[in-house]
This record gives sequence, structure tokens and C-alpha cells, in this order.
Amino acid sequence: MTTTVPVQDGVFTGSPDDPKLLGSRCTICGTYAFPAQSGCAKCTGTEMEPAELATRGTLWTWTVQGFPPKAPPYVGNADPRTFEAYGVGYVELPGQVKVEARLTENDPAKLKIGMEMELVLVPLRTDAEGSEVVTFAFRPVAGEEGRS
Ligand SMILES: [Zn+2]
Repeated sequence: MTTTVPVQDGVFTGSPDDPKLLGSRCTICGTYAFPAQSGCAKCTGTEMEPAELATRGTLWTWTVQGFPPKAPPYVGNADPRTFEAYGVGYVELPGQVKVEARLTENDPAKLKIGMEMELVLVPLRTDAEGSEVVTFAFRPVAGEEGRS
């Protein structure tokens, strides 16, 4: 069985079937942040507590990344000959925060602002030990595609 390892520690958790994003929440004003912050951007408070974020939200804006981003920090397939375009966007988690994330869909015809998205883990590459390196992404909730 292939083991999976997160591309970054402390950003998401859970099994591929049940991933969770790890954010933080200000104990003074309740503002959420992702990734987790040590201070609040809204009230400048420094009392932040860890918070698991919602796994569903709505697509706030998106684009398609058609060429390999500069590395680092990009760690996926950066070879222009085999690079596959991918969607990237902001997903608004209700009452929490907007999260910038990779999208599983790269077809502009299948992405629509306001559509329902859910959190998944996707493989990025295989590391030297043969483990699958995964990152988080959002995919359109089944049944939303093609609906207008
Ligand atoms: Zn605050």
C-alpha cells in the first residue's frame, strides 16, 4: 500500500477520505485565518486558537494556471513538456475565510463562480521513498457540473 505524506506540515490533516484544513481563529473577534496565523489581521490580537475549517464552500474566483509556476515554492510537475494546466481559485468557506487552493478541474467551461466546492487531497508527485506526496484541492461537488 502506498503511504501518503502531506506536501506541507500543519496545513491540512486527515485521511484522503476525510481531509481537514488547519486554520486558526481569533479568540477575541472570531476572525478565521488560513493558513494558521499567530496574530489576527483584523483586531491585531495575538490570542489565536487552532481551528479546523469547513470542508465545503463556494467558488469565489478562479483562474487556470497554464504554465509551471516558479519553483520554489512550487513543488509539482514543473516540466513544461509534461506540465498539465490546473485550476486555482479562492473558495469561500461560509462564515470563516477565503482559502486559496488548487482546483481539481482545469476546464473553464466547468468552473463557475458561486458553485459548491468540496475539499479533497490530490497527489502531486512521488518522493524518493516511494510515498505519494499529496496536497489539498477543491473539486466541484458532484451534480453541480453542467447545471445552470
Ligand atoms: Zn481578532
